[in-house]
Amino acid sequence: MIRVKGGHGGAGAVSFRREKGEPKGGPNGGDGGEGGSVIFVAEDGLTTLYDFRFQRDFFAPNGEGGGRKQCHGGNSPDLLIRVPPGTLVFNHATGELLHDIQAGEQWVVAKGGKGGFGNEHYKNSVNQTPRKATPGYSGEEFEIRLELKLIADVGLVGMPNAGKSTLLAALTRANPKIGDYPFTTLSPQLGIAEVDSRRRLVLADIPGLIEGASEGAGLGHDFLRHIERTKMIVHLLDAAPIDGTSPAKNYRTIRNELQAYSQQLADKPEIVVLNKIDLLTEEERRAALNELCAELELRADRDVLAISGAAREGLKPLLERLWRDVNPGAEPIAGWR
Ligand code: GDP
Ligand code: MG
Repeated sequence: MIRVKGGHGGAGAVSFRREKGEPKGGPNGGDGGEGGSVIFVAEDGLTTLYDFRFQRDFFAPNGEGGGRKQCHGGNSPDLLIRVPPGTLVFNHATGELLHDIQAGEQWVVAKGGKGGFGNEHYKNSVNQTPRKATPGYSGEEFEIRLELKLIADVGLVGMPNAGKSTLLAALTRANPKIGDYPFTTLSPQLGIAEVDSRRRLVLADIPGLIEGASEGAGLGHDFLRHIERTKMIVHLLDAAPIDGTSPAKNYRTIRNELQAYSQQLADKPEIVVLNKIDLLTEEERRAALNELCAELELRADRDVLAISGAAREGLKPLLERLWRDVNPGAEPIAGWR
């Protein structure tokens, strides 16, 4: 639970003009300044809510009180808090979802209080010397809970039995320490792969696309929408399908499915990954790759990788490749822990 609180508005002032030749000067107490607001700012490179482990209270500064001579108290600066895009803000007590912070967005979570009026405001024809001023108003205060909605960087597609679940488990096996990713909900088909300790990728298994997802069966709509936001597709192919089909044929089947389901998804950058190569000899591997490339007009050195999810072969190059495609030209992001 996290507490956020806008700053209190500054109090209005009571004061009167005191100038030579004007002994009974009118009221000139200035208004109080506005309290600062607490504002969440979506920051692209951020991927965890890790920082919230150490700080739970976020109180914006109070506005300054008004001064003499109509001097308006200073407005307080806002308290800006960086959060990853996809941060969900819940009301702690009711569980109500208050907001889903989008990339590039700034969202005011707790508004600062307005400043009070100085006595200058209370002057009227009846009362020329009002002693009345108002205190500032309280800032908004909330108890909230944050959760990070993971956006998959990479979606895994392929025929049933291509080895998607096995690969996801193998790539993310080394770090199922969910505790390292506080406030994060992982659905069963999502995993975080560590390229190394500083670079992470969120992978999503897209199961059963072939089993009628394009007709709306099988997967929840939310999940499919989520997949549409992935940056790229890994198209996994069984190198030696037991049903006698060929990798190239299965590739086309899935491509048709993708297109039928969503052109947007089908248009994403894709790499083809020939899986289960542990079942093949060196020679058979080469032959399988050559055949696949010839049939699909792919370049072996650029478009296709050969791996074995079960035997954990070729996984490191796969991760490196995915990282580069997902983060073109990027150095490892500073500040990752
Ligand atoms: P999915 O339907 O795409 O999720 O495929 P699964 O991960 O469930 O795997 C289907 C079957 O293929 C299982 O029996 C796995 O043990 C097997 N399998 C998966 N990956 C490999 C691999 O790299 N090599 C071999 N030999 N078998 C694999
Ligand atoms: Mg599966």
